[in-house]
Amino acid sequence: MTDILSKLSGSFDKAQAAGDLLFFSSTIVKYQESTSPIEYEIRLCPALQNKPALPTPHFKGTPEQTKFDPFLPPYNPNLWIGELSDADSGEQYVVLLNKYSVVPRHFLLVTKEFRSQASPLTPPDLVQTYLLLAAGRKARQPLFAFYNCGDISGASQAHKHVQFLPLDDEDGPPVEYAARNVKLETPDRPFTLPVPYANHVFRLPDRLWSSSPDQLEPILADAFLSLLDLAISTIRHDTEYPANKPSYNVVITLGHIYVVPRRQEAHMLAETGDELSVNALAFAGMLLVKSERELEAVKKEGVGNILRGVGLESVHDLQVLGTAAEARDEE
Ligand code: AMP
Repeated sequence: MTDILSKLSGSFDKAQAAGDLLFFSSTIVKYQESTSPIEYEIRLCPALQNKPALPTPHFKGTPEQTKFDPFLPPYNPNLWIGELSDADSGEQYVVLLNKYSVVPRHFLLVTKEFRSQASPLTPPDLVQTYLLLAAGRKARQPLFAFYNCGDISGASQAHKHVQFLPLDDEDGPPVEYAARNVKLETPDRPFTLPVPYANHVFRLPDRLWSSSPDQLEPILADAFLSLLDLAISTIRHDTEYPANKPSYNVVITLGHIYVVPRRQEAHMLAETGDELSVNALAFAGMLLVKSERELEAVKKEGVGNILRGVGLESVHDLQVLGTAAEARDEE
């Protein structure tokens, strides 16, 4: 883990200099609405207008059926950072720099063998992800992770990949501040943030980062499963949910796991007609726009409205009532 993190910066510079990695510079605008406790960071990145079109996802195919899988060997040596292996399951992973970076040192944890991006994170996926976050904390290179699961989650590659973004400080992405401020009566139960779309959050135990992989696994797996259950329950309440497998976004920090169910991949901005593709980053509090015009259109429509449009209505109150009824039945 430490090796991987210590190589990131040098490898990023080298890959960019060699032309194997394209970096798109951007500026950040902070933006907050009264309907949300999250102070959004909207990245304005005009250079993205020239980004080469990525291959369309092929979620339904095996690797043989898909045209090209950038996450299978041979890897570009300048993007390859290292390999990891989960001691218990033997599952192997490759760490690659993101070929198209808006944030320097954006990297990916990909399964060595093809696994579907429409499949949930497994206990080994969760443990390796969290170990990388913990190593980042130790090396004073704070990070957070995200996963776009399913074909309407904003993912562009069908091969399973968890993504990591470096942060300027240990405070986490913008959503973390809002989550930390929620006072929990029952700390080991999922909760929800007061935002206009359905979201399910689990607060991880204090100082979880100092735990061993064996200790981490049941904690992360149980937390993720409880959130996944709620996301599926939220989707089941939506009688018009599209005929897709359930899609959702996941954000993982040292302190919390967030799961946001999705019903639509992109939002069409009324003002510009542009499709704004939304992935887990938006729910972490980080949006991406390609022009000042798009930025103004986003502000006019409202981030909360846009995210509600691509997400689902919260049925948290019903779910809490359901849990209370279950608890009464058990008594
Ligand atoms: P997503 O779009 O969320 O599925 O994330 C996939 C990421 O993989 C995107 O951020 C792309 O920039 C990145 N990507 C696409 N092709 C490659 C490649 N050949 N090597 C490394 N990263 C890539």
